[in-house]
Amino acid sequence: MTVSPVRVRFAPSPTGHMHLGSARTALYNYLLAKKTGGQFILRIEDTDQKRFVPGAEQELIDGLRWLGINYDEGPDIGGPAGPYRQTDRHEIYQEYAQKLVDLDKAFPCFCTSERLDSVRQDQQKRKVPTHYDGTCRNLAPEEAAKRIASGEKYVIRFKMPADGSTTAHDLLRGDITVENRQLDDSVLMKSDGWPTYHLAAMVDDHLMKITHVFRGSEWLGTFPLHVNIIRAFGWDEPVWVHLSVFLKPSGKGKMSKRESAEAMKDGYSIFVKDMHELGFTPEGVLNWVGLMGWGAGETEDVLTLERMVEIFDINRLTPSPAAINFAKLDYFNGEHIRRLAADDLAARIKPYFVNAGLQVDDSKLLRIIPLIRERLVTLDDSLSFAAWFFKDTVQPNPVELVAKNLTAAQSVEVARKTYQLLDALPELSHALVEPPMRQLIEELALSPNQVFGILRVAVTGQMVSPPLFESMEIVGKEKVLERLRHAIELLEAMQ
Ligand code: GLU
Repeated sequence: MTVSPVRVRFAPSPTGHMHLGSARTALYNYLLAKKTGGQFILRIEDTDQKRFVPGAEQELIDGLRWLGINYDEGPDIGGPAGPYRQTDRHEIYQEYAQKLVDLDKAFPCFCTSERLDSVRQDQQKRKVPTHYDGTCRNLAPEEAAKRIASGEKYVIRFKMPADGSTTAHDLLRGDITVENRQLDDSVLMKSDGWPTYHLAAMVDDHLMKITHVFRGSEWLGTFPLHVNIIRAFGWDEPVWVHLSVFLKPSGKGKMSKRESAEAMKDGYSIFVKDMHELGFTPEGVLNWVGLMGWGAGETEDVLTLERMVEIFDINRLTPSPAAINFAKLDYFNGEHIRRLAADDLAARIKPYFVNAGLQVDDSKLLRIIPLIRERLVTLDDSLSFAAWFFKDTVQPNPVELVAKNLTAAQSVEVARKTYQLLDALPELSHALVEPPMRQLIEELALSPNQVFGILRVAVTGQMVSPPLFESMEIVGKEKVLERLRHAIELLEAMQ
């Protein structure tokens, strides 16, 4: 077990919406930091100007905040290893690229894109791996300096060792060995003076004293390059953890844009920003993504963030791809809803009522919580169960007021008798209402479903509702009778 405090980082690129996979990477970083008493850093990798999306950084920050994954250092809060936004670290990369050139581990390359294209096409034709062909690799330093001074455009490439092999170690996957001649002299600095991920991330991880790198398995291909860069500098390597990818629910491939849009229509999303609106709780989302790729949860599966910190074990992460299973999200969300304190749950569902244009009485909402919490899968489900509580009047569908196997005339008779019975009671508490209602059912020789069905539709305006007697107690005698009168009128009009 890791005991010494780690320094870990979540290093997203602000190139689009924050995906569930990013939430999981951030979560694992956070869990390891908290577990070991270390630090968790947010670093924004925004050097790719072409893919930069305005607002994406804020969305990441908001997403982490909503999830409750708090970082100790980051672009908006600062810290001892800043700046934490790569575009603010421009000079640092220039300095380290130059260091590699001085160490003869990197070189300026003046090849034009046209030349590189024709080299690539030629290699493709010959069916050999497409590689930089080494033209500028052995230019004399004076010659290179002269060309730079004359204003010629250039990039800086890594000088990959020509012989031997590279073995890189991943915590989940073990040793990965490749022949160096299969590796490319990759670009570290582009001609616009900005670094590629390969250089920037390695330099930053070193300067920020990162001990463990959690990142997506899409980086496995360039993993040997990265360890070569670190070794060229003579730095210590972090522990590498390449996390599994998320596959679409069918288990085949990643979710496409179209499939993501379809999921949204069904009340699901793969983006953190949508989760709140769709009625998911941060607790449910974290539990769900946390267990996708972590072999916890064999004895307990409903985990709070605190509990995840307690039981997190980096060695139990799994490298195999995880298929997105939205039914599990529903399950975890419902479980966490049921574990919330009543006032917390009330505060979380209130906005859904307010957004639906309803005026919410807080003490009434608190009384409704025990009636609905068992049935909620998402927070917005509370609307379909309980919006009627906050309406002045309800509009039952007359057809639904007619009980099963009864005519409208028979149903109105039941409604009238129920009205008389309730009217005669001093108040409509559950204890007072239930015994005479049961007696009425017996006298009429009807089923509870028939009689309560009429009453339910009359009072709530819908066929599915929270428990009827408890609901009537909250609504109060006056309103119940008023709604019953209205139902009687509707039934009479049907005859
Ligand atoms: N900016 C990279 C990405 O978003 C970060 C990978 C890493 O964590 O090193 O994929």
